[in-house]
This record gives sequence, structure tokens and C-alpha cells, in this order.
Amino acid sequence: MHSERTIPTMQYGAFSQRVHEQAAAHQSVIKAQLELTYRCNLHCRHCYTDPYNSKEFFPRELTLDEIHRLLNEMQEIGIVWLNLTGGDIFMHPQFFEIYEAAYRKGFLLQLYTNGTLFTKATIERLQQMPPFIIDISCHSVTEEPFDWFTQVPGSFRAFVRGLELLKDSRLPFTLKTKAMSWNKDEMPAIRQFVESFGQAFEFTTSLSPRLNGDLSSLTYRVAPDDAVALHGGSPAADGVEERCGGTTELFAPHTEQLYRCGCGTDTIHINAWGQLGTCTLQYERRVSLRAHPLTDAIEILFQEIRALRYQGNSPCRTCEIHSCCDKKPSDARWECGTAEAPIPYDCDVALARAQSVLPHTLIHPLHRIRMDVQVHND
Ligand code: SF4
Ligand code: SF4
Repeated sequence: MHSERTIPTMQYGAFSQRVHEQAAAHQSVIKAQLELTYRCNLHCRHCYTDPYNSKEFFPRELTLDEIHRLLNEMQEIGIVWLNLTGGDIFMHPQFFEIYEAAYRKGFLLQLYTNGTLFTKATIERLQQMPPFIIDISCHSVTEEPFDWFTQVPGSFRAFVRGLELLKDSRLPFTLKTKAMSWNKDEMPAIRQFVESFGQAFEFTTSLSPRLNGDLSSLTYRVAPDDAVALHGGSPAADGVEERCGGTTELFAPHTEQLYRCGCGTDTIHINAWGQLGTCTLQYERRVSLRAHPLTDAIEILFQEIRALRYQGNSPCRTCEIHSCCDKKPSDARWECGTAEAPIPYDCDVALARAQSVLPHTLIHPLHRIRMDVQVHND
């Protein structure tokens, strides 16, 4: 007799929680970000990948065969969420071949794009195999500043056209914003624009040096007090509110690890040159996936990252406002010479955030060290 079996369903939130709990229990990797290419049709002034968006670097990028191999390996180790990013994904000449192969493997696909390259044909192809979500950068809603920032005339019009197509397509998408010195006054207008698509407006303020060490991207940082003021006086987005907003007392880090953020647990990042990292901006250690199978590379990398410890007397080692801080060790190496060094801008922002939730006056982490040394010498 024919018996019917149904697949049990559950809410996405409960599913996600269960997968994360199982990953923590079994120390497995469940999330991956794969940079398909550094090619992009825009040249945003803050972009960390832009220095490699140039003909002489393209031969270094992963080949189609290598990407297929990595998709197989990611499927074998049980990756659930796969984020395809760039550069801009639609600049990859074989994007749809890669996308459709990844879709067939059952990954929940998150696509990062600047939104200017959508066409009717692209949308229709995505509708055949819909992604989990499409994330689009939205840093301005005014033509002149938008085109100034992307350094490509006409990019704003292409962005608006792309969004209109996407809105009509019913494909799932979100808009994400970075507040910077040049667009901070535009935040109310961007909020209105984002909300007109029925979406919640969220933004971050963190910027990083470029992948080749060029620091020009950092000139667009908002002033530290603005980083808090823009959030209505509360600490911020990107998990900082949770970490820092809950601060009722100051405490030094519980660990001497260089990476205190959970790097080296359930997430991997693969750059366009096939180098494995623990997240987008972690460049202290990378392992070549051209030289190692993915499982071996993860083991080597995670062990190395977890083993990194503060060795010197950096104030970060004992910093009592570390939970409010965005410091990334690789950024510190570019900006301040070593991965252990405090980043003065991040100190200022962390102090402003902590001060926004604590009633008493705090001492700046860099001044505190000087005072400790002074007391010690006296
Ligand atoms: S759209 Fe993205 S990848 Fe392209 S230049 Fe701008 S930030 Fe960089
Ligand atoms: S606030 Fe400054 S000293 Fe403290 S962890 Fe961040 S960068 Fe280091």
C-alpha cells in the first residue's frame, strides 16, 4: 500500500537556531562567504576590494573549475548559508553557471550586489531559482553624491532602475547602508527611501583599510561622537548594541586571544584568489585552497587563529570597554603597524558608545595606560 510521507516544516528562526546550536556542539562550519571576483563596474571610494579591480590582477582569480570544486567541498562539510559576493557578482562572466550549481546543491544563497546591473533577463533567471536574500548597498539616494562616490557617472540611475526591477520581481532583498562623513546628513532621506520599500533602515559606521594597505578609505569615517549620535545616542548596530548596550560595569577581556570575536568557529571566508580566511577582513592568517583541500585548510587556519595571543603590553589586552569596540587586528596592522596595537579611532568610538550607556565619566583607554605607567613609575 502506498504510504505518503511529508517533510516536517519549521519556522526559519527555529531552524537557524537549531543549526547554530548543532554547529557549536560539533564545532562544524555552517556559513561561508565566497568572493567570486574583484571585478566591479563601480569604484566606490571606500571599497576595500577596489585596488584589485584591475586587468593585471584578474588572472589570479579562481577559475570556474576551482569554484566548482569549492562548492562540492562546501557541500560535503555541511555549509548551510553561502554568501556570494565580489567585487560585483554580476561582473563574473560565468555568474549564472556558478549560481545555479550552488542553488542545486541546496545552499541558502545570499547575494551581495551594488544593484546597478539588474536587467529583466537577470531577474527572470533569478526567479527560476530564487536566492534566500539579495543584499544591496545603498549609500546615497541623490544622483550627484552617489555618482561622485562610485566614480561612475550614470550609476545612480542604473541603481534606481535596478531597484525598480527588483521591487516588481518579488525576489527577497534588503538594503544596507554605511554612514560616512560625506553622506551622514543624508541619513534621514536614505531612511525614508529604504522604508518606502517596506524595509527596516539599518546602517553601520565601520570602515576598513583597502586590501593593499591603502588607508584612503578611512578618510570617510564619521566623527566618533556622530557614530553614536546617528544611532539616536545608543551604542550602534552590527551586534555592538547587544555587546555594549548591555554594559552595566566595566570588565577586562576574559581571554588574551587576539581574536575575541568568535573568529575560527562556524564561518569561513574565501577570497577571489582562493585564500581561506575566517572572515572578510581577517588577513593575519590565510591558507591557500589551491594548495590544500578545504577541510585541511580549515583545520590549519582555525588552529592558528585561535592560538594567536596578545604578547606585548597593548592597552587592548586589558581594555575595559572592549565590548564596545570594533577593532579588527588586520586593520590595526595596516593602520598602526601591528595587529596588537589599539586603533585610536576605534578607541574614540568605543569610549563614546560606552559613555552613552554608563552614568559615570570614563577614562580614555589610551590615557588610562599612560596613567597606569605614571602610577607605576611614581
Ligand atoms: S559596488 Fe561594492 S565592490 Fe563595487 S566598488 Fe562599490 S563597494 Fe566595491
Ligand atoms: S577601545 Fe582601544 S584599547 Fe580598547 S580594545 Fe578597542 S582599540 Fe583596543
